[in-house]
Amino acid sequence: MAKVKEKLLFKTENVSGGRTDGESGIVEQGGSAKRPGKVNGVTDRLQARRKSLNDSLEGDVRGFLVNEAELHTYDDLTKVNPVTPSTVLKCLQARYSARVFYTHAGCTLVALNPFQPIPHLYSLDVMHEYHTASQPQDFKPHIFIVAEEAYRNVQGQVEPVNQSLVVSGESGAGKTWTSRCLMKYYATVAASSRKCQHTVERIERRVLDSNPIMEAFGNACTLRNNNSSRFGKYIQLQLNSSQLLVGASVQTYLLEKTRVAFQAPNERNFHIFYQMMKGATEEQRQEWEMPRDQKFTWLPNAEKTLEEDCFQETVETMISLGIDAHKRAQIFRILAGLLQLGNVNFSPAPESEPCGLDQHSKGFLEKTAALLRVPAQELRECVSVRALRAGKQSALLKPCSQRECVVRRDCLAKVIYARLFDWLVGFINSSMYADDSKWCNFIGLLDVYGFECFLLNNLEQLCINYANEKLQQHFVAHYLKAQQEEYVSEGLQWSFIRYQDNQRCLDLIEGNPTSIFSLLNEECRLNRASDAKQFRERLQNELSDNSSMSWDKFSKQPHFIVAHYAGKVSYQIEGMMEKNKDPVPPELLSLLQKSEDPLLHSLFADSDTEGNSRGHSKVVTVVSKFKKISARIKGKVYRTVVRAAMLYGLETVSLRKRQESELENSLENLMKILHSTTPHYTRCIKPNPDCKPLTFKKEEVITQLEACGIVETIHISAAGFPIRVPYDNFIQRYGLITNTRLLAQGAENEAQIALGPAVQNILDAVLRTKSSAPNSTPNNNNVMVHCGKTKVFLTHAMLELLEEQRYRVL
Ligand code: ADP
Ligand code: MG
Repeated sequence: MAKVKEKLLFKTENVSGGRTDGESGIVEQGGSAKRPGKVNGVTDRLQARRKSLNDSLEGDVRGFLVNEAELHTYDDLTKVNPVTPSTVLKCLQARYSARVFYTHAGCTLVALNPFQPIPHLYSLDVMHEYHTASQPQDFKPHIFIVAEEAYRNVQGQVEPVNQSLVVSGESGAGKTWTSRCLMKYYATVAASSRKCQHTVERIERRVLDSNPIMEAFGNACTLRNNNSSRFGKYIQLQLNSSQLLVGASVQTYLLEKTRVAFQAPNERNFHIFYQMMKGATEEQRQEWEMPRDQKFTWLPNAEKTLEEDCFQETVETMISLGIDAHKRAQIFRILAGLLQLGNVNFSPAPESEPCGLDQHSKGFLEKTAALLRVPAQELRECVSVRALRAGKQSALLKPCSQRECVVRRDCLAKVIYARLFDWLVGFINSSMYADDSKWCNFIGLLDVYGFECFLLNNLEQLCINYANEKLQQHFVAHYLKAQQEEYVSEGLQWSFIRYQDNQRCLDLIEGNPTSIFSLLNEECRLNRASDAKQFRERLQNELSDNSSMSWDKFSKQPHFIVAHYAGKVSYQIEGMMEKNKDPVPPELLSLLQKSEDPLLHSLFADSDTEGNSRGHSKVVTVVSKFKKISARIKGKVYRTVVRAAMLYGLETVSLRKRQESELENSLENLMKILHSTTPHYTRCIKPNPDCKPLTFKKEEVITQLEACGIVETIHISAAGFPIRVPYDNFIQRYGLITNTRLLAQGAENEAQIALGPAVQNILDAVLRTKSSAPNSTPNNNNVMVHCGKTKVFLTHAMLELLEEQRYRVL
């Protein structure tokens, strides 16, 4: 027999054609197995092999070894053995080249972005196939398997269980695309029968329409993705007792409102502004003071053509959601006002005088005031003069510096945009939400920012990465449970005592009594927001015990480094406290309350204009709002709050409702909801940074596998038994150690039972040699093995020992 020498990887299950003729079936002890000839220089080869065992193995194409050429056929990464980052990467690459974009990784689905339309993959027929299959999980990996599994799980075996589909990945990886795909799936398979189609069709349409409108207001073109979502969202699809879609609600997180007033080079503002600029009628242009050739500072890269710049589509979905012409006009007028505001520039002035405005800026300020329906003079004063309050006495007025004027101008735009966005989300909720009596279960879709690590990272990244840490912890707990379940079903008693999760990092960020968040909030409460050095010192003095925190000795900028599960991130301290306070000068709020525009007025009607300039007064910081542990949120209050958000969308905003809705957006609450549901994880991967079809960059993918926790799951599985070999395959390869071989007889099940003692014999023999030569393998301490009902569970060290023995007797 010709010896085949090439790189090989273990395959443990579903091996087809791997057996040599006449060698399958029951076991016969003492038979002489066919042996390949003895190989010279065994010891040298053993040494060399040890080094590369994790990645590749040499040997015959027999038993459970398979050729790398078959890698693309592996539907589940956990079955590529040994499971290492490198083998997993090779498998994904092979699949991507074969245009297979979905792969299971145990209880997770990995979705590679094809960066080109694959219409046949998502057609109605394909949806139907997965939906009607008796065992969809036997089909090729697909997002529809996850969708269908969640849909079937809702009914539950004992009682209905709510489900959550968590879609993660870096910007441009395909999260939003996947969420949309899931929504379409449910809008199709959970559509009601013809009888009551009228209302249901309305709901399905509205649920789907919520996407383009939220994307128009919340997405923007960035360096990473032309249609990047600048907020996180959790959508609950509400199902009635017949599993039909009857309503939905959406929560949003961390809208990147700074983008309204600041766009990084080569990036753009939110799509809606470009849509207006490109799609307005002549009449609208006049009303909005937007002539075709007008340049707006806050509208960079307007010449770029994007399919997202479709104003008409946004208007149509607004109509379909029930936003009437009157409200639409108000919304667009406010947005036009913001664009004008961006063109207002301030010139420096002596300390005692307000900054000046040139002729152009004066014009733009007047246009802003007219569009926002506020008095122009007051607008000018608000952005250029500060009111200092001392106790209850009337305020002292102080002209702002040029820089302060810019900060106030931007702040005005940000607060208006953020509240308008919230209003819109409230409205969308009000138009989709089903009455509590009409639905009983939900499937939640979570589409949030993935882990971020840029050259400069600040509070935004800290919040995003903190959210990802929380989700990761949730995922790991779920994954460990799934692993345990496999062990239990195989009759193994084992627990992951040696696995340490990311609690230490979470303690560092949010723990009590002292953590980054608690110190940050304290500095803000003490009004020391501008003292970066002092904050850094406190971090160093009070948190240096936590090994997840470090500093770069050579960096001149005040910073701290957090070791996240996905890698280390260095955060700048400069500006962090100001961002955390996110102050809105009370003068600006009072001005907006005076607006004659009914919508703008309602957005600020109940704002607290007393201000917090008295130092120690209550400051609700960004991190405390985002984290928020609230005793007020219990069980069903969630629904009540969504109802509040409905009202919120309809008319006047009351402060209480708004605060409740802010509570809702807290991560704490999201985690509570996730914990109460059965999760399904989908990890989207961006195969290259240039968004090119069929281009797979290994370095890019491996960092993402790390960031989305796939590598972590590999570590977890390594902490247990990463190698699982069915009995017959095991005997085929190692039977020669005890002169055992398989015979072609008997039914599979009986054979499996009979195989057990033979496997045990082989293991006993190998372990005996191990104890007689205790240092024969490098990882001697980790030589562990368990026999399950149908498989042998091995550690890498045990595999190595078996391989050594096998080569000795060859
Ligand atoms: P994310 O939300 O993760 O930032 P998106 O979902 O916006 O990323 O995806 C970025 C782009 O990638 C999409 O605009 C689309 O062109 C492409 N894309 C993503 N997933 C798919 C897919 N399954 N099939 C085809 N194109 C896709
Ligand atoms: Mg997105």
